[in-house]
Amino acid sequence: MKMSSLGLLASMCMVLMLVAGVHCWSKEGHIMTCQIAQSLLKPEVDEVVRHLLPPYAKGDLSSLCVWPDQIRHWHKYQWTSPLHFIDTPDDACSFDYARDCHDPHGKEDMCVAGAVTNFTSQLLHYKEGTADRRYNMTEALLFLSHFMGDLHQPMHIGFTSDRGGNSIELRWFRHKSNLHHVWDREIILTAEKDYYEKDMTLLLQDIEANYTDGAWSDDTSSWTHCDDLDSCPSKYAAESIAIACKYGYKGVEPGVTLADDYFDSRMPIVMKRVAQGGVRLAMFLNRALGDDDGQEEGVASPT
Ligand SMILES: [Zn+2]
Repeated sequence: MKMSSLGLLASMCMVLMLVAGVHCWSKEGHIMTCQIAQSLLKPEVDEVVRHLLPPYAKGDLSSLCVWPDQIRHWHKYQWTSPLHFIDTPDDACSFDYARDCHDPHGKEDMCVAGAVTNFTSQLLHYKEGTADRRYNMTEALLFLSHFMGDLHQPMHIGFTSDRGGNSIELRWFRHKSNLHHVWDREIILTAEKDYYEKDMTLLLQDIEANYTDGAWSDDTSSWTHCDDLDSCPSKYAAESIAIACKYGYKGVEPGVTLADDYFDSRMPIVMKRVAQGGVRLAMFLNRALGDDDGQEEGVASPT
């Protein structure tokens, strides 16, 4: 597939989502994660990112952060389909890389934590120059950016038998939905409608205010603390399944109606996970593509 045809894929994705019942951290979740990340890139890394993006993206990483969802059922990219999530044993509420990070056929490393590690290590080759043609750096950038978002959506690290809540059908206020989709999209859309005049930019500004000098500003250095880029994705997966158990599945039975109580208590968690995904994506990109890959915090000061 030519990268220049990416722009035509949005409607195709909609069809696939309808036909296959596929759900993924909504486009809003991915766009916000990537916008946060790009705002925190070191200048020289932002330059590399812009260079890797196709021209029609106009330097905006977030415009292509949904691309991996749009191509996952294309023949050429079918192998990427298991990379969006992790199935963990029912009720275990834990993540164990050796036990859980594989596709349905048992192929190792084929899960979202393995994908983040894999595409990060591909990007590390960028500094070796363009002579290394084993990897498509543009695709590696888009996959890493997308999967870092999915890794932070708690229900993407869910139980095996209900496919991360996909088979738990319920009502979200007055319409039909399922538990996975509540966390992918419903909470974000309801927040936009109720509090932000349906304007994602206003919602994003609120999230940014929270981690720059608001409620989470003391936490961001712990979010980005990472001694080893290879193993940190497992830490993020463990956080996600812990949240999925404590807040996602908690008190939810098939057929239930979720409304104000669930929305009010879970919305701050969704917003925080979007922020964490963005801040950590910036840290990964800064360390993988930046001039020095030391152990520093790896996030540029917000401007
Ligand atoms: Zn996805």
